[in-house]
Amino acid sequence: MSVAGRFERIALIGFGLIGGSIARAARQQGVAGEIVTTARSEKTRARVAELGIVDHVVASNADAVKDADLVILCIPVGACGPVAAEIAPHLKPGAVVSDVGSVKGAIVRDMAPHLPANVHFVPAHPVAGTENSGPDSGFAELFINRWCILTPPDGVDAGAIDHLRAFWAALGAKVEIMTPDHHDRVLAITSHLPHLIAYTIVGTADELAQVTESEVIKFSAGGFRDFTRIAASDPTMWRDIFLSNKDAVLDMLGTFTEDLSKLTRAIRRGDGDALFDHFTRTRAIRRGIVDIGQDSAAPDFGRPLPQLKKP
Ligand code: NAP
Repeated sequence: MSVAGRFERIALIGFGLIGGSIARAARQQGVAGEIVTTARSEKTRARVAELGIVDHVVASNADAVKDADLVILCIPVGACGPVAAEIAPHLKPGAVVSDVGSVKGAIVRDMAPHLPANVHFVPAHPVAGTENSGPDSGFAELFINRWCILTPPDGVDAGAIDHLRAFWAALGAKVEIMTPDHHDRVLAITSHLPHLIAYTIVGTADELAQVTESEVIKFSAGGFRDFTRIAASDPTMWRDIFLSNKDAVLDMLGTFTEDLSKLTRAIRRGDGDALFDHFTRTRAIRRGIVDIGQDSAAPDFGRPLPQLKKP
């Protein structure tokens, strides 16, 4: 009996955190017949071959997509347009073509014009990740209970959307459909702005002359450490995200700056009520996130505790 969401031949363009996690999860869940992958560098291809998760590792994107029923671009957002142009003449008629990019408007703008009319283009964004990258960073459980947002352009075949939805569901994700614009606004506030703040704060601490490096590290549990984790995210990926979601990020940044000014004023004026009310509201938001299962209520943001030394 065929497993829901199964594709007989899957081509993954790129094998980093996301591509590697898709390969591992698809294998584990039996939703992939054959998996072929590409990676840009010889080093990554050699490592992927050594890992033995996929059936073939090839250098050419064009070769990889031949006969593939599902093609997923798992590469930085800025690379998706040129790769779409490169693979377009080699795609199998009827194939589902997708991606995992963290921005969707730019993906549709850059990829859609290159793709032939006889394939089904269903962009996707699994809202799941870590700060790690590369072929060893992926794991099969990454998508479990996380959202995967599909942003199919108007008129895309409903059967193709359903097939991809079932694929992501088999990998453990909860699937939602929205427009690329809506996706980009939601992600600007929930992901892109927090990353920008983390990049800023870690950079600021680094530049503060009076805070020595050892003190930054020593006292990092006071909130800073979690920012450093986010600020360790891949520079190429995040450069592309900010360049390609510029309008929504600038919009959210404007609102954020206004709110920061309000808090700055409350601190300057000693307005404890304003601070207390604000922090009470944000605490309720955190509880809401834990309640819907999008994070652990465990202390230390759910990090494993075994590394704690006994006194
Ligand atoms: P990653 O671990 O750095 O892997 C990126 C892969 O893309 C590697 O195989 C790399 O090849 C290849 N690549 C890089 N630049 C390329 C180019 N110009 N042309 C062709 N291939 C190229 O990255 P990732 O975290 O999996 O991210 C991939 C995509 O997933 C991005 O679009 C990102 O927005 C999206 N995403 C990431 C997360 C996250 O938390 N990381 C979450 C959701 C979605 P080499 O190894 O040979 O350099």
